Amino acid sequence: MAWSIWLVPPIITSVFFVLGVITLYWSIFNWVTAKVESQNKPVNVKRVQIAIGTTCAVVSVFALQLIVRDSHLSWTFTNFQLLLLIFVAYFLQLKIPHWLIFLAGVGFMLMNGNFTAVLSWVYTLLFVLFYVISYQQSTHLWRWPYTRYITIAMLFAVALWFLVKLRFHLDWNTYFIELGDYAVLATLMYGYFKIQDKDRRIKDRLFQSANWDALTRVQNYAAYDRAIAYQFQQSTAHNTDLSMVMFDIDHFKHVNDTYGHLAGDEVLKQVASTVTATLKKVDSKIILYRTGGEEFNIIFPDYDLERTRAVAEQVFEAVKDLKIPYNDVVLNVTISVGVSVLSASDHNPLDFYKRVDANLYHSKKNGRMQITAG
Ligand code: GH3
Ligand code: MG
Ligand code: MG
Repeated sequence: MAWSIWLVPPIITSVFFVLGVITLYWSIFNWVTAKVESQNKPVNVKRVQIAIGTTCAVVSVFALQLIVRDSHLSWTFTNFQLLLLIFVAYFLQLKIPHWLIFLAGVGFMLMNGNFTAVLSWVYTLLFVLFYVISYQQSTHLWRWPYTRYITIAMLFAVALWFLVKLRFHLDWNTYFIELGDYAVLATLMYGYFKIQDKDRRIKDRLFQSANWDALTRVQNYAAYDRAIAYQFQQSTAHNTDLSMVMFDIDHFKHVNDTYGHLAGDEVLKQVASTVTATLKKVDSKIILYRTGGEEFNIIFPDYDLERTRAVAEQVFEAVKDLKIPYNDVVLNVTISVGVSVLSASDHNPLDFYKRVDANLYHSKKNGRMQITAG
């Protein structure tokens, strides 16, 4: 059966086009973030979102316009341009400098062959203003977000479509049908995007709670396990250094037994945040993980034993100097530390871990409050 016999009204095609673009965007977005997360690299969600969203939007606008440019039908995809503008400005919150949008508008006029038309210039200026206002709307947490969204979307569409009507001598009927379609599509886009975005937030929260420790706000054992597997593989594949530090708080049970469990929790929080701050000052690649009750591991990609030992000493001193006020006492703890570097005889991450753990054990047995490296 030929497609033309189906007699699908344009609004139906448009609905599927809009849903299609957003679905395509979310699929690529999820695929990219899953890929990055699986390599245990931090994901800058906003950046990925913007890069993929803008590509989808720009490609669709220009590809569509190429079909009809320079003809009496070059107004046909006006609604899609408006919707994609909303998509990028309102939903992706992409902050583009105003002059750049203006330049894109001028490029669009050149492509369309209407560079000399005064109406096109007015259209382009309004278009830029529409972008700026949509962006501003999206970044404020105002009440009645949908009402605001649709009001602004409609006000600009009414004006922009009026310019299109004048330029292409469209009748009022076409004008109102197009505006009606646009209202339906803008609403649909709002709902569909919000649903998908909510989904994404739930996934983010699950990922967060699966990999981060709620008490100390550092990454947990599951994250450590994945990170060490990834770093082990990278290090053996590229023959690069990899070091690890493991430490355990000395006589921690004593803190719990003397001052209570909450005091112990406070010590854990303070130790974790002090160590995180110390590491951050040295190198953002070095990551701390809470791998047990009062046990922590630190992974050092590209660090040899000497450099790692130097950082371990900084960590050791920072914890030793830490004064933790709790009720009317000031608590003070020390740590025992094990340090080692990956060796050719390590067949898997566990072999490596065992040596670091043995060094930590040595520090404990030897009287605690010390570092064993080797
Ligand atoms: P050592 O110097 O040999 O390491 O002695 P220790 O007392 O630090 O070690 P031990 O393994 O005997 O005790 C660790 C304690 O840590 C036991 C456990 O109740 C406590 N602990 C584990 N997780 C938490 C936690 O999240 N909060 C608190 N407050 N205590 C915890
Ligand atoms: Mg301990
Ligand atoms: Mg312990």
